[in-house]
Amino acid sequence: MGLLVDYDEPQMMAATLTMPYTLTTGPAAGTFLAELANNRIVGTRIVSTGRVIVPPEDYPGGMSDVETEFVEVPQTGAVTTFTRTVNGVVALIRLDGADTDLLHRVVGDTAGLAAGDRVAASWHTGSVDELASPFLQLAGFAATADGTTGEVTPLSGPAEAIAELPYSMKLDYEHSYGPYYGRMFDELASARRIVGSKCPKCLNVLVPARGNCDACFVPTGQLMDVADTGTILGFSVIHLEFLGQKRKPPYVYAEINLDGTATRLIHNVGGFDITKAEELLDIGSRVRAVWKDVSPGSGTLDDIEYFEPIDLPSSGA
Ligand SMILES: [Zn+2]
Repeated sequence: MGLLVDYDEPQMMAATLTMPYTLTTGPAAGTFLAELANNRIVGTRIVSTGRVIVPPEDYPGGMSDVETEFVEVPQTGAVTTFTRTVNGVVALIRLDGADTDLLHRVVGDTAGLAAGDRVAASWHTGSVDELASPFLQLAGFAATADGTTGEVTPLSGPAEAIAELPYSMKLDYEHSYGPYYGRMFDELASARRIVGSKCPKCLNVLVPARGNCDACFVPTGQLMDVADTGTILGFSVIHLEFLGQKRKPPYVYAEINLDGTATRLIHNVGGFDITKAEELLDIGSRVRAVWKDVSPGSGTLDDIEYFEPIDLPSSGA
């Protein structure tokens, strides 16, 4: 174990949260999306009032007892309002004969765009397979000099609704490790060593390295290079498979007290006949880190393949 020099460069980790799932569209949105491939814009007309809603809704106003029908809406309309973004102009567009606005982008020359301007649909001309979503078949709306007002008509021969869409929510962010975790992960990746921090009051060495002692509540301040050997304080043999598992069962999950430290590091014990783990391992068994043969490493505790038992009884060899 040795003292490491101060280190205060902030470390960032690029991270992404993703949630892939299947979106069930329902008849209205499914028909709307399917008909975009035919360059048609579909709306819902409430039979009793004649009100036309675009995009269509299965239950207008949240009411299930309203009789509705699909209609084909004109591809021309007027800009109700718009906003300029770094990715272009986004507008609410009132298609001719509709009673609601459709949110979409305005394409082409938008320099002189004003509320009330007439626009017409602009369609994607390539294959639908090139698009991230079938919604983008309708590429946007462009200014038009054509002053003809279109009319809503009954939808003839509606296409079969798209029932499901693969969907993924994605969130990119940067996670700041701070100087303690940052140094620890850097040392794992570049020097194959484990870094802890030492409390000036109780003199405990804490792994993973952290800024404050969780017993004395004082700043630790000192980073220490600690041994990659230790003692098993507890372990489980995992036989069950579950989502997100990094290893295939069976494997050994253990709490390891690294020599000279006051904390428990959770890692795997391997490199021996796992089927005999309960017979060969015990509380107090000695282990040492087996580092992955990659340089530089990933900068995570996965740079340690596992901890292998030291001086195992011969039956485990
Ligand atoms: Zn302390």
